[in-house]
This record gives sequence, structure tokens and C-alpha cells, in this order.
Amino acid sequence: MTAEFDVAVIGLGAMGSAALSFLAVRGARTIGIDAYFPAHALSSSHGDSRLIRLGYFEDPSYVPLLRRAYRNWRGLEARLRTDILTITGVLQIGAESSKIVAGTRASCKMHGLAHEVLDRADMARRFPAFQLDDEDIAVLDPQGGYLRPEAAVMGYLKLAAQDGAVLHFGERVIAIEPGDGGVTIRSADGHYRARKVVVATGSLIAELVPQLRQHAVPIRQVVAWYQPRDGFATEPQRMPCFLRDEGAEGSYFGFPAIGADGVKVGRHAHFREPIDPTQPNPAVNDADTALLDGFISKRVPAAAGLRVNAVTCRYTMLPSEDFLLDLAPGHPNVVVASPCSGHGFKFASVVGEILADLALEGQTSLPIAAFSFEAMNRFVAARKPG
Ligand SMILES: Cc1cc2nc3c(=O)[nH]c(=O)nc-3n(C[C@H](O)[C@H](O)[C@H](O)COP(=O)(O)OP(=O)(O)OC[C@H]3O[C@@H](n4cnc5c(N)ncnc54)[C@H](O)[C@@H]3O)c2cc1C
Repeated sequence: MTAEFDVAVIGLGAMGSAALSFLAVRGARTIGIDAYFPAHALSSSHGDSRLIRLGYFEDPSYVPLLRRAYRNWRGLEARLRTDILTITGVLQIGAESSKIVAGTRASCKMHGLAHEVLDRADMARRFPAFQLDDEDIAVLDPQGGYLRPEAAVMGYLKLAAQDGAVLHFGERVIAIEPGDGGVTIRSADGHYRARKVVVATGSLIAELVPQLRQHAVPIRQVVAWYQPRDGFATEPQRMPCFLRDEGAEGSYFGFPAIGADGVKVGRHAHFREPIDPTQPNPAVNDADTALLDGFISKRVPAAAGLRVNAVTCRYTMLPSEDFLLDLAPGHPNVVVASPCSGHGFKFASVVGEILADLALEGQTSLPIAAFSFEAMNRFVAARKPG
């Protein structure tokens, strides 16, 4: 049977919407299918703001991809004629030896990235919203800032449609059947044939990619918004976005007062509670709000006014907390994208390009060897005792 489409993209969150746009602009006949209406509350790509930073503490090897991601975000803005990425700087705060502070400095050093190191007195003078301990320092990444997730997803979908992609919303894919001549995609509403399929279904990815069943773990994430006590100190021009390393307690992230709800904060991976991704997100509870209220009172007192909103969202964690971007083992016409682990959004603009390369060429010149099934399986094997 002749393929109706060159590529079908399943899941139109940050990654799928970007992939669809990169595919459509290259002239591929594409269809994008999402079970809901994109950037919805059961996806991972909603909630006003996402951090972006260049001096990547997680691993300096992400920096070349980030440079490309910045370039592509600016390209998206130029095509849409709207703002997606706002530079505020990102402060990475903690003890000098902490993972975030030491990792950011190492990454900046290795790649020659501009940054400033500030002590407690510098911080009190320049960024009075924050409260530091005596031994704390902050590394300011002047290229850091925030992205607008809903605008980015909708923008990519708009461009994809403009470039000829077919969009189906409210249609859940129940099976993908790869074969020699292409892939059959089955949904409750019918079936489609495509030469290649990109699976970017976020927290539900293991349903369509059995190789990820033991490895892609959806967890609960909670963020809250606070009306500032000091509106002056928490404006974006006086309060950069931030990460705060609390040692064994993990790390927190936050944004200045960008919108009407005020300052937003969360703890990375929250309580690391696995969730059933087929069910609605569990409600916010007292333990969640106590954690975030305690953090903001202690560390960002200028923002610690009335809590006006708190929501549950979801991360999809992989074993190494890196990404998975690869062809499915044994099925070269299935491209798999699970680039979350709680830090994927900023990369969506380059991930879209990578997924289009993988679908159309079977390979990419961008550095993704660390995100293969082989690398993931090696990591898992090395972790096993004995
Ligand atoms: C609260 C929170 C804060 C975060 N902060 C940051 C940050 O500051 N910086 C950063 O870089 N990253 C951050 N992240 C991570 C980042 O947002 C995610 O990595 C990214 O949004 C994942 O996008 P995705 O496209 O893979 O998944 P999703 O956005 O979940 O999209 C998947 C889509 O697939 C659809 N789908 C699922 N199953 C099917 C099916 N069977 N058929 C059809 N459609 C299907 C879903 O409806 C959904 O729309 C954060 C995440 C959260 C939740």
C-alpha cells in the first residue's frame, strides 16, 4: 500500500510540534496527531514559563546543542513575529562546591561562556529578592532567561499548518505497526500509512514504545505562584530566573513576576512520586504547598506573599536523567523522542530539527550519541549491583 504521508508525528507537545514544523518546512508530507489539544494540563509543555540557560551544570556536553537551540528559538520568533525567549539572566545559587554552582562554572570554563560570580554582599546589592547563607555564592549566566511554552507549541503548530502539515487533535493513537514499506498508525478514528513515524508522546511514551517500559517513569511535579511582598525587587529586570542548590534536599527553580500570578517556584522532581500517566494528575496537597511555602519564605522573601495558584504537572524521567533521541531498535522507520527528565523544554527547538533529520535522513549531524538506546542500556547495566 502506498504511504499517504512521508512522516506522521504522534504527540504534539514541545517536541512533536517542533518536529512537525521542521518536517513541513522541508517539504515532507506530514500529519501530526495529538490525543488532546496541545499544551494541555496533562502534557508537560504548559504553565507560562520554562528556564533556558547556556552554562549547563548537568554536563558541558549539552552546550553545543543549546547554542543551536538558542539560534532556532530566535528563528521561530522571526518567522512568527512574536517573543518566545526573554533574556533575564539565570542565577545559579548555592555553596561553592554544590553540584549546580560548581557544574555551571565548569561548563562556562570549558566552553568560554560569559558569566559572573557574585558573593552574598554583591547579591544583596544587585538582586535583593534573594536571601543567601554566608557561604553561598551565585553564578550569573547572562544568556539565561525564560521561554513561553504555550506560545512556542502553538507557534510551531501554526507554522507547520502554514507549511502544509495536516493536524488532528483529540485523536488518540492506539498502535503503531512498523513494516518494510512503512508504518501503519491506528487510532480510535481510523488508520494512516506513513513512511516514517516520530513518537513524541511524553509521559505516555511507553505505551507505543515497549523498549521504554521499564525506563521512562512519569513522576508528579508541582509548581506554585506567589504575589510578591516587594513588587519592585521581583520585577524581571531586578530578579533573574534562578536555580537554587539545597544539597541533599535537591534543587529549586523559579521565575520573577512575569505575569499576573507573580513569582513561580518549584522543586526539581518534587517528591519523585511515580504516577499513572493514563489518569488525571493527582491534586496538590498540603505537603506540596508546605514545601514550596517554606522554600520561598526562606530563600526568596521578597516574593513570599499570598500563594495564588499551585498546580500538578508531570515529568518523564529516564534512568540517567538525560534524553532519548534515537531510531527504535530493529525499526528504522520509528523515531523515538523522550527528551524530558524535567529539563527538556529549552532544547525543543533543536530537538525538532534532530527529529526531522532522523525521520528524513535516518541520521543527524548534531551531537546526540549520548541519547541513544545503546547509551541508556549501558547506563542501566552499569547501575545494576554485582
Ligand atoms: C512543571 C514543569 C517545569 C519544567 N521546567 C522546565 C524548565 O524550566 N526548562 C526546561 O528546559 N524544561 C522544563 N521542564 C521539562 C519540559 O517542559 C519537558 O521536557 C517538555 O515539555 C516535554 O515535552 P514533550 O513534547 O516530550 O511532552 P508533552 O508536552 O507531554 O507532549 C506529549 C503529547 O503527546 C500526546 N499524546 C500522548 N499519548 C498520545 C497518543 N497515544 N496519541 C496521540 N497523542 C498522544 C499528549 O496529549 C501530549 O500533548 C519542565 C516540566 C514541567 C512539567
